[in-house]
Amino acid sequence: MDIQKLRDEAKRALGRKEIEYLIGYKKGSYGFRISPCFIETKEEVDQLTFSPLCSLSLVNYLTIEGKPLLPADEKKSKAKKVALLVRGCDSRALNQIIAEGGISPDQLYVIGIPCSGVIDLKKIEARFPHTPDPVDVVEENGNYIITINDQSHTVPVDELKAETCKTCQYPTPLTCKKLIGDKRAGNPPQYEDIQILEAQPPEEKWQFWQNQFSRCIRCYACRNSCPLCYCDGCILEKLKPQWVKRSVDTNENFMFHITRAFHLAGRCISCGECERVCPVDIPLMKLNRKMEKDVKELFDFEAGLDPEVKPLLNTFAIEDPEDFIL
Ligand code: SF4
Ligand code: SF4
Ligand code: SF4
Repeated sequence: MDIQKLRDEAKRALGRKEIEYLIGYKKGSYGFRISPCFIETKEEVDQLTFSPLCSLSLVNYLTIEGKPLLPADEKKSKAKKVALLVRGCDSRALNQIIAEGGISPDQLYVIGIPCSGVIDLKKIEARFPHTPDPVDVVEENGNYIITINDQSHTVPVDELKAETCKTCQYPTPLTCKKLIGDKRAGNPPQYEDIQILEAQPPEEKWQFWQNQFSRCIRCYACRNSCPLCYCDGCILEKLKPQWVKRSVDTNENFMFHITRAFHLAGRCISCGECERVCPVDIPLMKLNRKMEKDVKELFDFEAGLDPEVKPLLNTFAIEDPEDFIL
């Protein structure tokens, strides 16, 4: 990734009078951490960065930031746009949110970055523990070159890459104003791990998920990091009626996860962020990918491919099967 090209493009975007600010990445203040940054002037552009450490989705900041900016009565009068850097999965998230009416495309200026995948923070922090100083990482010829305190370390990409990125189907942003760099081909769909789970008898599946969900501490990091979990009033916080109790036990944890899985059905864009941030390593992508596979097989639908296509569960066709209705 040519950082200078990214900064030049950011400067051009900020030079447009309709752009209010740009959301991008900058180095964090600790070790491998990267922070989001909100840039308003061309002079601030040099702090922008992009590397395999940029794992968080900036789309989240758009919906957090966007909410106060988009009260219904102001929607039409708001002339300013927000510029945003997106990878392939972010672009799908944006498309999906636009299709749902959560964000107006008129308020966005999207700069796309073809993505070669991100590093799993847990893996790199385990490999290089106690690394407080900011580091540099570049990908070269199948390796990550990691520079810590002027010392270079070479690690094969496969050892550190986030699992979701190894099977990413859409690394190149699908919808953007500008694309920085060459398009990257995606992987074909791969569901071998899900087929193994599907083949298990129901008792074994039940036991598997019981073991997983009993470990959940309900920190809600998975929900908070998800670009598609942007509802104003999340069902988990409702008290009247209280759909999900606040007690952390296996039954309530099941309720949380099943509710969330169904709320993401036909909407999840497989960015893997929820699984990456889980502090107790619950394999949430198995659940998400099972839903993704079912949605593909049953409805021939993939989330976030086109902002003009209505969301799966908002559509109805007269010939839809209805055998399940009694
Ligand atoms: S899921 Fe795809 S687009 Fe998203 S970070 Fe991984 S490789 Fe990049
Ligand atoms: S991030 Fe993990 S521990 Fe936290 S609520 Fe989600 S599944 Fe549970
Ligand atoms: S459920 Fe997980 S994988 Fe799906 S969009 Fe949300 S964070 Fe990404």
